[in-house]
Amino acid sequence: MKRRQFVGGLAATAGLAACSGQSGDCDNGSTTSTDSFEWSCVTAWPPKYPGLGMAVENLADRIAAASSGRLRIKVYGGGELVPAFEAFDAVSRGTVEMGHDASYYQKGKVDAAQFFAAIPFGLNHLELNGWLYYGGGLDLWRELYAPFNIVPFPCGNTGVQMGGWFNREINSVGDLKGLKMRIPGLGGEVMRRAGATPVTMPGSEIFMSLQTGAIDATEWVGPYNDVSFGLHKAAKYYYYPGWQEPGAGLECMINADAWASLPADLQAIVASACQAITADMMAEFTHGNATALQQLINDANVEIRPFPDDVLRLLKSHTRDVVNELSAKDPAWKKIADSYYAFMERSTENQRVTEWANIKTRDL
Ligand code: CA
Repeated sequence: MKRRQFVGGLAATAGLAACSGQSGDCDNGSTTSTDSFEWSCVTAWPPKYPGLGMAVENLADRIAAASSGRLRIKVYGGGELVPAFEAFDAVSRGTVEMGHDASYYQKGKVDAAQFFAAIPFGLNHLELNGWLYYGGGLDLWRELYAPFNIVPFPCGNTGVQMGGWFNREINSVGDLKGLKMRIPGLGGEVMRRAGATPVTMPGSEIFMSLQTGAIDATEWVGPYNDVSFGLHKAAKYYYYPGWQEPGAGLECMINADAWASLPADLQAIVASACQAITADMMAEFTHGNATALQQLINDANVEIRPFPDDVLRLLKSHTRDVVNELSAKDPAWKKIADSYYAFMERSTENQRVTEWANIKTRDL
């Protein structure tokens, strides 16, 4: 496979242009632009779940429409074809051609994948996309997944999340001790070091676990998705900010052989559709969160509170430790972490004088 076939978004379109240009360097294998494909896509989300799940249905619809039906993708909810957290393995094995989830679900298998979803106290959604598409992040991601025969694409972003729902007040660092909280990825490890007991479970099990007291707290996404799960009926305190996920990116994983089997125009359609989903999802969540947060503000049974600064400071300090420990023992982690944090350092001042400074003027 030629290197350029692995590039995404705008670059894939450039590859297509090169293909029809004068270079003659166009290798689409044995496929032609009239071949049709039927793929299956497994996801980590409940079937047709608002926001996350519907983004994948939207992706399939866009690809079918743009390709005049030459690439049709059937979407399966978590558990329908394979369990919610096994999309990565199913795509890697070639059981299905495509999968959609958040790359931090690969923690334990490919730890460094977490950088492409969310790192506590890390990049926001604007910065994550800046790093992925223009700062070398996507190349590092492709390199990380290549041994698993998977080509990843950024495909969706929830924006900054909320800290989560708690059935007890968090007034000091001591209140984290013994707290049983559903929180995946690196955020879970950070909470463990702060004295909590992190658990991981698919979204579909969260409401019942919180309501029955099997867990004391959960983070999920933000007002839009949390209200749709009814989490405000299972816990009283809604804390912010979402330190654990400052801009959670989602991933579309494609089996590398399936990807190679597509002619260049369908590859370009898939790459563009994934990028469009990221933009569309941010628009949907920005609107949906604004509406759902108002509903929660008006709900007498819900208290919306900021985490105390000393709690955030402790969590940030544990995050630094975890990141450094992983850098010391995992070369892939270190390589990606170095790129990620170098970009974050460059970006912070720009965010401070633009996004943050501008939002502050609303309170003047
Ligand atoms: Ca989350």
